[in-house]
Formats: sequence, structure tokens, C-alpha cells
Amino acid sequence: MKITALETKKLPIKLKGEFKIAFTSIGMAENVLLRIDTDEGISGYGEAAPFVPVTGETAEGVLAALELLRPGLLGRDPFGLDTIHALMDTALHGNSSAKCAVDLALYDIIGKAAGKPVYRILGGENGLVQNGATIGIAEPQEMAREARYYVEERGYRIIKIKVGLEPQRDLEALRLIRQAVGDQVRLRVDANQGYTITGAIEALEGFAALGVDVAEQCLPDWNLEGTAQLRSKIRGIDLMLDESLHSPHDAARACRIGAADRFNIKLMKCGGLYPGSQISAIAASFGLRCMVGCMLETRIALTAGLSLVAARGNITDADCDSFLFFDEKQTGVTGGFTVEGDMFRLSEEGGLGVTVDF
Ligand SMILES: [Mg+2]
Repeated sequence: MKITALETKKLPIKLKGEFKIAFTSIGMAENVLLRIDTDEGISGYGEAAPFVPVTGETAEGVLAALELLRPGLLGRDPFGLDTIHALMDTALHGNSSAKCAVDLALYDIIGKAAGKPVYRILGGENGLVQNGATIGIAEPQEMAREARYYVEERGYRIIKIKVGLEPQRDLEALRLIRQAVGDQVRLRVDANQGYTITGAIEALEGFAALGVDVAEQCLPDWNLEGTAQLRSKIRGIDLMLDESLHSPHDAARACRIGAADRFNIKLMKCGGLYPGSQISAIAASFGLRCMVGCMLETRIALTAGLSLVAARGNITDADCDSFLFFDEKQTGVTGGFTVEGDMFRLSEEGGLGVTVDF
């Protein structure tokens, strides 16, 4: 099989409201959808969800990166994932979400050719995944109302709460949320790089007392040594890296210096399912558990992320919930998975099982 064409389409996504995290507030996203065609009549869909503060990419940048990669991809066998990733990494530094779009389209093609869903291509056996819901920063009372809505109306049993502005205010929000949802719901927090080491210690001790089991990215992305230091001082709560962890190399370094209990793998940061699987393997060899998170992705990338969760034993958590933040009709993407409460059942169709209005 040979790649014959790459087609791209920009997709603006308007969020239902402003989504606030420690370092920014977001009301819109602009993604790039990719279709890769082959000489055997099979086409695969991929997606880039660039996020400037984390991947350094814009939609325009993704389009330019894909143009640059196009000549090297045309004529290649889509099954040659290792070669294709090596070629992309040699040709272009970074640009992980553009590379992810290519990677996802290739897995979609491979799955379609094999007549098997991507989660099975990746080694999985069971396509049922429990997902979590995320709450942005707002007034603590409002955050507690939203948490109760996800738990009582939508059936979520794992809630991730955005924090990282000010420890005492964050603890107030967490106290109200714990009161609102009860003791059975698992709570995680994500500081999105917002704390100092001292502030993080203060916040984490309070979070642990409220039964929060994981705290994500407390310190700035560059401060891996600080995170290792923080980890040595804290008990009763796991530290997870997100913005500090892009590539498999980052994963190896974080493991070597003991900077994490867990990793948040995002396909947009690492360049797709192939490097994502490598990160999971590095984590497994150090005894770390992983979660797969997401940017503001449509069902193309969300299905891929959930497929990785379904496929790897040490990826125990899914945070693939961006579809909750916008009206999905505007994306033109359907399928991939069905939802019952917080349990997500992956499609058994070949590939990602998504239909894309391209
Ligand atoms: Mg995060």
C-alpha cells in the first residue's frame, strides 16, 4: 500500500463558555483535520489540536508543517510507522500536533486495512474505558455546582479540578466540591504550572486531606528538578507530569530523576499513538502509571486517546473529555465511541471508526 495524497481542513471550534486554567482562558480552538489517501482506496483521518502555550503551534503552523512533510510521506507504506516517525522527526523539530495528525491517519488506515479497531491494533482486548470530566477555574461555589452536575446528571465518578492560582482559594474550592459530590467520587487536581514549591506543599497537604489522589503539573514545565524535590517532601498524593512531558526522552529523564508518580500522555504533545506507546513503555519499566489526557480535540483524536488507554495495562486513567466543552455538531465528526454515564465503549469498526464531514 502507498500513500497517494494528503488533504487538510481547518476546523474552528467555539466553546460553550470560557474555559479557565491557571495560565490562560480559552473560548475558541482552531484544529486541523487531515485525510491521507492510499492507492488501495483506503483513507485515514487524523487531527491536530495545536495549543500555542504547550505545543508552540497554531493551525497555520500545522498546515505549513504538513506541507513540509508532504513530499516525504507521498509514496510511503502507511504501515511503516517507525520509519515515518523517524523521517518526520529528522525533517522537523517539534510540531508535535502536526505529526500526531499524520500518525492518527496512519493508524486509521492500518485498522481499516486489517478490519480491526485501533485499540486492537495497539494490543488491546477490551474496548470499554472509564473517562473523567474536568472543571475549569471559576468561583468555588460555581465549581462545586458544576461538579455536582457531572456526578449527579452525567454519571461521572472521576472529576478533575483546575487549580493553581492561589493555594487557599483552591483548597476552598476543593472543600466545597468534596461536600457537593461526597466521598465516593475520585478527585484529581491540575495546577497547570501555577504553584511555587512552597505554595504547592501547602496546597498538596490540604488536597491529600480531602482525599484528592493525584495532582497534575504543580510547577513550571521546565522545573523537573523542583518536581523531584517536591515529590520527596509530599506524602499521600501522587504527582503527575503534563506540560513537562512531551516526548519519550522527557519521560526517560523524568523517570531517571524521580520527578513523577504518573504521566499525563497527550497525543498532541508527543506526536501520536506511536510515541505515546513508547512513553507508556518507559513509564511501565519504572513502575509508573499513566493517564491519557487531551487538548480541545474532536472525536478523531479522542477516540485515538481512548484506544491507547484500552490497549496498555499501565495506562489506568482517561481524561478524554474535551467534547463536553463544545457543541459537537460544529465538528462534522461522529462515531468512534458510544457513551453510557462515564463508561466509553470504543467502536468495533476497522480503524478509528469515525465518520468525518471532510
Ligand atoms: Mg494538565
